[in-house]
Amino acid sequence: MANPLFDALFGRHQGKDTPFLHLPDGQTLTHAAFLARTARFANAFAACGLIAGDRVAVQIDKSADALALYAACVQAGLVFLPLNTAYKPAEVDYFVSNSGAKVLVCDPAKTSGLAPVAKGAQARLETLDGSGGGTLADLAEAQSETFDTIDRSQGDLAAFLYTSGTTGRSKGAMLSQANLLSNAETLKEFWRFTERDVLLHALPIFHTHGLFVATNIILLSGGSMVFLPKLDVDELIRFMPRATSLMGVPTFYTRLLDHPGFTRDLTSHMRLFISGSAPLLAETHKAFEARTGHRILERYGMTETNMNTSNPYDGDRRAGTVGHPLPGVELKVTDPDSGTTLPDGEIGVIEVRGPNVFQGYWQMPEKTAAELRSDGFFITGDLGLIDDQGYVQIVGRGKDLIISGGYNIYPKEVELVLDDQPGVLESAVIGVPHGDLGEAPLGILVREKGAEPDSEAILAQLNTDLARFKCPRKLIVVDALPRNTMGKVQKNVLRETYADVFGR
Ligand code: ATP
Ligand code: MG
Repeated sequence: MANPLFDALFGRHQGKDTPFLHLPDGQTLTHAAFLARTARFANAFAACGLIAGDRVAVQIDKSADALALYAACVQAGLVFLPLNTAYKPAEVDYFVSNSGAKVLVCDPAKTSGLAPVAKGAQARLETLDGSGGGTLADLAEAQSETFDTIDRSQGDLAAFLYTSGTTGRSKGAMLSQANLLSNAETLKEFWRFTERDVLLHALPIFHTHGLFVATNIILLSGGSMVFLPKLDVDELIRFMPRATSLMGVPTFYTRLLDHPGFTRDLTSHMRLFISGSAPLLAETHKAFEARTGHRILERYGMTETNMNTSNPYDGDRRAGTVGHPLPGVELKVTDPDSGTTLPDGEIGVIEVRGPNVFQGYWQMPEKTAAELRSDGFFITGDLGLIDDQGYVQIVGRGKDLIISGGYNIYPKEVELVLDDQPGVLESAVIGVPHGDLGEAPLGILVREKGAEPDSEAILAQLNTDLARFKCPRKLIVVDALPRNTMGKVQKNVLRETYADVFGR
């Protein structure tokens, strides 16, 4: 018997003094030291009475220990459930009770979690039936540095990952060992990661991107990571000379470009810059190439499926597209009403099938049945098209589609025109309740530093560039759009804020 995910990611490094994590204080943690820490945590879980299949919720700051808790869950056959560190106690309460987690590892100085725990203490492990727990450090110290890995099979669940909640309440996506393993193997090959890679890691580790994409690829390839607690551009620049590759969200790239210390020389030895989780503006893509000579490789994925598509490693990395379906992943665009496959070039709903597709939403059988078809295709909720070269373009979320006076408006199409207007840095177009049209498009413009966009002139220009029904009925100028930690624009927040602009 074996534990395929543990063996592939961690077991292969047992006893090796090779570097795994380079920490900001200059220390390097070897694979052996990391796995000793992992075994201590796995023993601590066993001492709390946890058995294979139990859920472990973790809400602590990004650190080597936070990652070792993930490894410990895999080793002990437990389901890892990382929680966004920004969640407040009431939100943690929801996720912990919804998932039926048996323990919560939390930092009482930040989140009280569920149990009333002492403020100012170190990270704690709380058993939710009140039967045990203590500081994580004490529990781990009391344990051995070896642990007999629990047998698991590829079909067993490895993680519950809650979606970001951009379009509604977060859903718990159940991911099997096979889901994680197959995607990591594909991406490692596709993006050519080897033991020579040093990945600059400044993403949070409670999302697919930072946890499963970045970490699992590095573990599979035998490379190492510069493990930064959060996005800090000075730190990215400080550590870039030691790195070979960077995985980021678009904000990483815009902030790097805004930094005077970000020069071509700094990137000359880098082999790969990857972006995803939110659309990368074509302007950022171009500016990055002009500054560094590197073309950012954009990819597309989600909590439920890990990664679906990627721009090519060798071929043309096309701005404004997320590339082609990854090997083993099927992607089609279907008509939202009939479900039939649409010809290339037509906008519809993106569906994907492959070993990366999750096992369903936890305790949401109806939602699972509606979105995960019996033929294996998952209805992603994203709208997009496949162009004549097979590149996939995302045009927005199904939920962001505006239906105005019976016409469909794809916000992205209007946003691209708005982004090109003088004084406009970026834009968001949303549907807002409108007495006559049901919904009408509203444009929200972000001003470029020091500029003041002329809304009337822009509206006049839009009326010549776009069909009348697509033109925003009003433009509002702001300094910034609301975004979550992964840089996703929160259109639900905008829709609430501006719900009454056209009167109801
Ligand atoms: P929820 O499902 O709870 O509303 P969410 O979909 O934002 O939240 P995630 O699974 O973290 O939660 O994000 C996946 C989504 O991110 C995709 O469905 C897609 O809309 C968006 N996305 C990811 N990569 C890209 C990209 N390169 N370009 C455009 N959008 C992207
Ligand atoms: Mg989603």
